[in-house]
Amino acid sequence: MSSAEARIAGAAARTAELSGNLSGLLARIEAACRMAGRAPESVRLLPVTKFFPASDVAILYQLGRREFGESREQETAAKIEVLRAGDHPGIRWHMIGRLQRNKARNVARWAHTVHSVDSERLVNALAAGARAALDAGERTEPLRVLLQVSADDDPARGGVTAAEIPGLAAKTAAAPELRLSGLMVIPPLDTEADAVFARLAALRTRLLADHPEAEEFSAGMSGDLESAIEHGSTVVRVGTALMGARPIISA
Ligand SMILES: *Cc1c(COP(=O)(O)O)cnc(C)c1O
Repeated sequence: MSSAEARIAGAAARTAELSGNLSGLLARIEAACRMAGRAPESVRLLPVTKFFPASDVAILYQLGRREFGESREQETAAKIEVLRAGDHPGIRWHMIGRLQRNKARNVARWAHTVHSVDSERLVNALAAGARAALDAGERTEPLRVLLQVSADDDPARGGVTAAEIPGLAAKTAAAPELRLSGLMVIPPLDTEADAVFARLAALRTRLLADHPEAEEFSAGMSGDLESAIEHGSTVVRVGTALMGARPIISA
């Protein structure tokens, strides 16, 4: 086999693998919706492609996916550059990882939604970045923002505490460059995911009373999406169950 033939065979094998995983995952989400008595369209799948190459994103695009979750600014910018060479209209990038303020300006160029906003400083930096990107014609819509909520009210682990949600929500909603869109949570490994999602569901009900537009609830990953869907998740962020195991990297 020539190297070109080997490349084509490799791409075909990866396409078959991702296609099979995707079908299985969509069936799993649908079954979870059925169990929870929810309409299947009420939950979206956000494939998490961090650490996987742009070629995988291109395959998933071919398979009909348009939204992708990433966690690192530089890695995402590089993938977007690669994909720009092809034809991928309508693609939407979600920033789901911990975000440093000095990366906010760049993220505001490419992100459709940021799931991981947990401080006023970050809200201000993203608003300024989105304003610059809007003025430069790099984006046409306000940046959607989800507030990442602490799973256990321990701010050391990231995420806003329950008491901080109303203030940060008001601040976000007041920025014309941003659109307050909902809440996000990541249950730490040592917590009971079901209890975390139940608590978030209650916080979400409170938020919706003041901000009915903040409908998104980003909850659920490969290991706990059924529980998240039971508690009202509108978007599940799935990496491993779709892409396979991530390469081990040192931070
Ligand atoms: C990596 C990541 C995921 C995906 O996790 P899996 O367990 O691989 O499905 C979801 N959410 C966030 C914030 C992540 O960083």
